[in-house]
Amino acid sequence: MSIDTVTLSIQGLTIDVVRKRIKYIHLSVYPPEGRVRVSVPLHVGDEAVRLAVISRLAWIHKKQAAFRSQVRQSRRELVSGEAHYYAGRRYRLDVVEGSARQSAELLGNGIMRLSVRPGSTPETRERVLRSWYRERLGESLDPLVEKWVPLIGDRPSYCGIKRMKTRWGTCNPTAKRIWLNLELAKKPVECLEYVLVHELTHLLEPSHNERFKTLMTRFLPNWRSIRVLLNAAPLAHEDWSC
Ligand SMILES: [Zn+2]
Repeated sequence: MSIDTVTLSIQGLTIDVVRKRIKYIHLSVYPPEGRVRVSVPLHVGDEAVRLAVISRLAWIHKKQAAFRSQVRQSRRELVSGEAHYYAGRRYRLDVVEGSARQSAELLGNGIMRLSVRPGSTPETRERVLRSWYRERLGESLDPLVEKWVPLIGDRPSYCGIKRMKTRWGTCNPTAKRIWLNLELAKKPVECLEYVLVHELTHLLEPSHNERFKTLMTRFLPNWRSIRVLLNAAPLAHEDWSC
């Protein structure tokens, strides 16, 4: 099969043209950037491709706009004015460029200041904010671990923080290793405590059986209402679990 890709610029759009052994011109727009690709029969020339693209320009722009808005909804730009959460409170992000030391801080009046170098990308800002969340979460976590280890009667070999897509925490009872989700930094501290106690309880009972629930109720009598708070908006996730 003979495949030949060229790039054409049509009406300000960059189009990938792939020539294949097919019968008809086929046009596709791909996420996330809305890249346009045209599959073209071997014998069809550039002029026919140009016409095919121009005749479908409105459709292409509509598709691209839809992809762009999807990206906007799922990803923060990390610009001033955005709402971000820490310890269950909503803060207004204030981005200050020009700082050599990149970090975040809470100003006390509902402002979360993010200091970054000039021209920082959203990815860099994200990284700076994430490492700040990680430090804060670690500071909240350490005293909670020390508070609960004697009450539980067992100590994890390791209790760490990482990014997880669908779980608030995990516990490997054999290795006694506990991981907590970095997203917990955005939740009220009692939520962090609930997830920690849940994972520590797995050191005593690996499954979510009646014994586990009895132990949880003994340790944290209101654990069910904290779980509701944990899974409430604005950071709800359908698949979250512990
Ligand atoms: Zn569990």
